[in-house]
Amino acid sequence: MRPAAEQYDAVIVGSGFGGAMVAQSLAAAGFRVVVLERGVWPWRDDADWSPHQVIVRNRYGASAPLWVRQYRQRRFRPLWPTAVVGGLSVIFGGAAMRLRSTDFAHWPFSYADLEPYYARAERLLGIHGAVDAAAWEPPRSGPFPHAPGELNAPAQRLHDAALRLGYSPSRLPLAINVHDASRPRCAECTTCDGFPCKLGAKNDVAEAVLRPAMGAGLEVADRVTVAQLRLERGAVRSVVCCDESDGTQFEVRGRVVVVAAGALHTPTILLRSGLGQEGDAAFLGRFLMRHCNIVVCALFPFATNPEGAFHKQLCFAQFYEDLRHELGTATGVIQDISTPTPEVIRHFAPRGLGRPASLFAHLLQNLLCVAEDEPQADNRVVLGAARDALGLPVAMVTHRYSRRDLVRRRYLVVRARRILRGAGGWPVWSMPIETFSHALGTVRCSDSPATGALDPDCRYWGVDNLYVADASFMPTSGGVNPSLTIAANALRVAEAIVAGGSGAR
Ligand SMILES: Cc1cc2nc3c(=O)[nH]c(=O)nc-3n(C[C@H](O)[C@H](O)[C@H](O)COP(=O)(O)OP(=O)(O)OC[C@H]3O[C@@H](n4cnc5c(N)ncnc54)[C@H](O)[C@@H]3O)c2cc1C
Ligand code: SF4
Repeated sequence: MRPAAEQYDAVIVGSGFGGAMVAQSLAAAGFRVVVLERGVWPWRDDADWSPHQVIVRNRYGASAPLWVRQYRQRRFRPLWPTAVVGGLSVIFGGAAMRLRSTDFAHWPFSYADLEPYYARAERLLGIHGAVDAAAWEPPRSGPFPHAPGELNAPAQRLHDAALRLGYSPSRLPLAINVHDASRPRCAECTTCDGFPCKLGAKNDVAEAVLRPAMGAGLEVADRVTVAQLRLERGAVRSVVCCDESDGTQFEVRGRVVVVAAGALHTPTILLRSGLGQEGDAAFLGRFLMRHCNIVVCALFPFATNPEGAFHKQLCFAQFYEDLRHELGTATGVIQDISTPTPEVIRHFAPRGLGRPASLFAHLLQNLLCVAEDEPQADNRVVLGAARDALGLPVAMVTHRYSRRDLVRRRYLVVRARRILRGAGGWPVWSMPIETFSHALGTVRCSDSPATGALDPDCRYWGVDNLYVADASFMPTSGGVNPSLTIAANALRVAEAIVAGGSGAR
């Protein structure tokens, strides 16, 4: 749907955690705002809970792939990103964690600067959590908006096994609604991570942030792909768009332009706009991070979740600081994660193993290890020579983990294996994650143009009315899932825009 006007106070590209939070805040401050999003609104029908429709048929797949080379691969392979209003929040797993004060050592602002925005983001997203007095938890200005739901049997099993090992499990803060009567409540279906919630109980930003702000100065134009920005004399003059329904081009203007298309697409748009040619060439598209994630799986001699209960409820954060002295970063966290449905297992298993693996799905229980990874300049997004279905240069993504990334991951895997073994699981094995679900850092913010592409307010150095407000801004990845940090920072950026861009400087 094309925007209703040609001129706005603010044009926002992308409607994920970053874009939605900026859009909502600017609209609340009286700006006339349009969000340009290439995906459709979530359908929220039965097919949204169908593994066949969402995973196998890629119901929300973008019209063009990214070309990705990772691990030891020599060739680039296609990866189809998700395109939907609400961005990855629509299919995310709901974990909403804060970074620790120690994670901000190389950032141009501190945990204390971000804390009030973390608290606001938690309120907007209706986070359910329990304050943990443990020393590794970051300081908070108040309690969580809601208490967590009851621990379900599979989570309780891992909780008890961890206690027997002397570990300290805590409750994973979640954006999934259990207690708020004014919003749809979770019905504990067996799809969640990787799927939209057809009820809207996941508190994704399409449902919890964008919809309530529409009509109050906020417009969402879906099925609009942004091709590039037109720059003139140090400012963005217009945003060049393609209508996904017929491929035709049109332009929109904004006093302020905020790009929040995700850490793989934001640099692509900026590179297509001619940025990244001068000093910013050292940063734009570089330092891609994604966490060093792995799922540790165990086979149990009994059905692990016969009731089909939701159990992504636990977090093990006590190892967070263990390697900081040696490696200079956080280690990361271990989290409870649900077993995918048999159809999803069949789809992703190596050739020939799909059917047998899916027959054992009900005997599996898993833990997810989220390890911090390092920003490396060679991990990057560049423009390829080929063009996509809309005639735009495609993005080519290269990523390799460092030896130290693998050390951190191994440290967590050893502990995750102990917990699963302690709960009765055997054998135990690991599966690295190949999606770029936690892509971060490709347009990093910094104190100086000599060390990053964005200033501390996430304004592009040298382009007065251009901001970046998604996962791209992060100078380091930290050791927790990123969505709450992206959301909190976007609220901070919006405040800087309203104040005239002077915020943190
Ligand atoms: C399966 C899965 C589970 C996850 N679980 C968790 C979790 O439990 N906790 C957590 O913290 N994080 C989780 N994440 C990660 C988290 O969802 C992302 O880090 C976060 O959503 C990124 O937000 P963003 O605003 O940077 O970008 P995105 O959410 O990627 O939003 C960018 C938007 O821009 C649109 N766009 C892209 N290019 C263009 C263009 N050219 N023109 C117009 N629009 C464009 C995209 O369609 C998209 O809607 C998960 C991710 C996945 C995939
Ligand atoms: S588990 Fe709950 S929040 Fe998640 S998709 Fe199912 S009903 Fe929605």
